[in-house]
Amino acid sequence: MSESITIALTKGRILKETLPILARAGIEPLEDLDKSRKLIFDTTVNGVQLVVIRGTDVPTYVRHGAAHVGVVGKDVLLEHGAEGVYEPLDLGIARCRLMTAGPVGWKQSGARIRVATKFVNIAREYFARKGVHAELIKLYGAMELAPMMNLADLIVDIVDTGNTLRANGMEPLEEIASVSSRLIVNKAAMRSRYEGIQTLIDKLAAAVEEP
Ligand code: AMP
Repeated sequence: MSESITIALTKGRILKETLPILARAGIEPLEDLDKSRKLIFDTTVNGVQLVVIRGTDVPTYVRHGAAHVGVVGKDVLLEHGAEGVYEPLDLGIARCRLMTAGPVGWKQSGARIRVATKFVNIAREYFARKGVHAELIKLYGAMELAPMMNLADLIVDIVDTGNTLRANGMEPLEEIASVSSRLIVNKAAMRSRYEGIQTLIDKLAAAVEEP
């Protein structure tokens, strides 16, 4: 590739599922990501670099063009917005659902409900659409704790198997969105590095198709 391309990857669970897709597209880091404390990695493709960062930071890097391409969960794009980026490909990995959940058997009694969540923007829009008056309480983790501690009535959280909810006396209620990881591309880079980025999208799309 003539022009360099930097790909911002979401660390953690998404990274583990992204690396095999990149490998099928011929892109492999030259070092073991788990064993290194580095944040930027060269790859087997000359000019293609990987950076490994938090999911919520991926759209920021890509929007500003510091990274040209990124891999991030749809939940992050819904919560923090996707301005300045294209979303050309669903990688179909790290699938889960964004749901409301509550203590088993919970029924709304008052006119107002308290909802604890990391996803305040998604939750605000969801309850407004339903015409439910919700007081939103922003948390950064362990949302299941909030109803047990009487901080909130319901939570909005990511649900995969539902085991975390059940282990804490809760059950999933309504699905707000289905989530998987998406490829995002900086809009200006899509024009200025069209050939390299389009080739990358095509290779990743093929890699997603043939697991
Ligand atoms: P589970 O017990 O399988 O329903 O998993 C629930 C917890 O795992 C959630 O609270 C999330 O923190 C995390 N989780 C599950 N799937 C994902 C995913 N695809 N992306 C990010 N976090 C996830």
